[in-house]
Amino acid sequence: VLDLGRKCAHSCRFCYYSFMSEDGGQFGALRRAPFRSTEDSLRILDRLAGHGLVNCDVTGGEPTMHPGLPDMVRRAVSRGLSIRVITLGQFLIRRGGTRLLDTLLTAGTTDFLFSVHAGSEEGFRQATGGSLAKVLAVMDALDGAGFQYTANTVVHAGNLDDLPRIAELSAGRGVYHHNFIVFNAYYRWDSPARVAGLQAAYPAMAPPLSQAVDILAAAGVAVTVRYLPLCVVPGLARHLVGVVGVHHDPHEWMNRAGNEDREPEYCAEPLPVPGDGPRQVYALTRGRRLVECGPGGPVEAVAWRGDAFKIFPAPCADCAAMDYCDGVDPKYVLLHGTAGLAPFAPGSAQATGQPPLLASRRAYLPAFAVKRAPLADMRRAIARLSGPSGSAPKPGCSIYEP
Ligand code: SF4
Repeated sequence: VLDLGRKCAHSCRFCYYSFMSEDGGQFGALRRAPFRSTEDSLRILDRLAGHGLVNCDVTGGEPTMHPGLPDMVRRAVSRGLSIRVITLGQFLIRRGGTRLLDTLLTAGTTDFLFSVHAGSEEGFRQATGGSLAKVLAVMDALDGAGFQYTANTVVHAGNLDDLPRIAELSAGRGVYHHNFIVFNAYYRWDSPARVAGLQAAYPAMAPPLSQAVDILAAAGVAVTVRYLPLCVVPGLARHLVGVVGVHHDPHEWMNRAGNEDREPEYCAEPLPVPGDGPRQVYALTRGRRLVECGPGGPVEAVAWRGDAFKIFPAPCADCAAMDYCDGVDPKYVLLHGTAGLAPFAPGSAQATGQPPLLASRRAYLPAFAVKRAPLADMRRAIARLSGPSGSAPKPGCSIYEP
């Protein structure tokens, strides 16, 4: 990933960077942040390629606000990197002006990841401050050019009913991989009071999420669901990836993000990925303890990950899937309790695999397809990979061994 910094004009309700400004306002940190310079960004791309990486994402903030983005795409392509731009899609087609979309396509952009957080114009405006019609216009333009792309949806209390509609929007357009990200209360989302109304309860999430995944799968779209405890929707096991296994996901970032104040060499350095478990920062520790959770009070845990940013409450004690599962945010337990958690019995077929990935995830090859050429037919590649044993991908698509 090339992280350009936090500068952004949008107002996504669930933005990780919320409340990080001095004044404590929700979006001040985005409005006042500088972008990383074009020169430093080009150095990061050179170093990513020099380290042998083959594919990268450009993120922010909102990368399409950076005037150096076309130069970055050209540099990536000249160094043999395929490059995906992560965007809310609001500035790619401007009425009456030249189209940034055309400039980026001419520069060689391989892929886009569009944020589709609602299925209606009003819902999108409430969730992001932006316009769904603008994103869909960009998608339609890409569809006309035979260019396929990916989509992201943050799952939160305000869009559960919308998930099937969002899935239909993707399924009916050129999306080849849809990623549902269950809202993570990181950084300054630091109390149950702050996440109330945004962090949905798992039992409410399960039905619309299952319906959305079914719609996308039927259309031949690869689907990933991130950061959901395994037992919430056992039927979606092949789609689930938590912090435990996310670094084995080729759509995840393999070098440092969130270090826009550090030198390019540091940011471009690939991070080691253990073959047999999560990264050390997410390591599982078993034992009983009370985890302090600020004014919300302590939470009782039977195990935890890392510094206890995720915990396993009492119902998880004998679960056979703990090695594959993230556990839960302690703030979630204070807000919603543990309803919906259903431990897997010892020997359960659903809880088998080779840590950190369940066997069903390893066998789901469509999730491991990466677009390497702008006009690669990813839907077709995914259809071939969805068969019982999978088969060779089409040109322009690479498969990474899970
Ligand atoms: S460890 Fe806990 S949260 Fe994870 S699958 Fe088992 S019961 Fe569910």
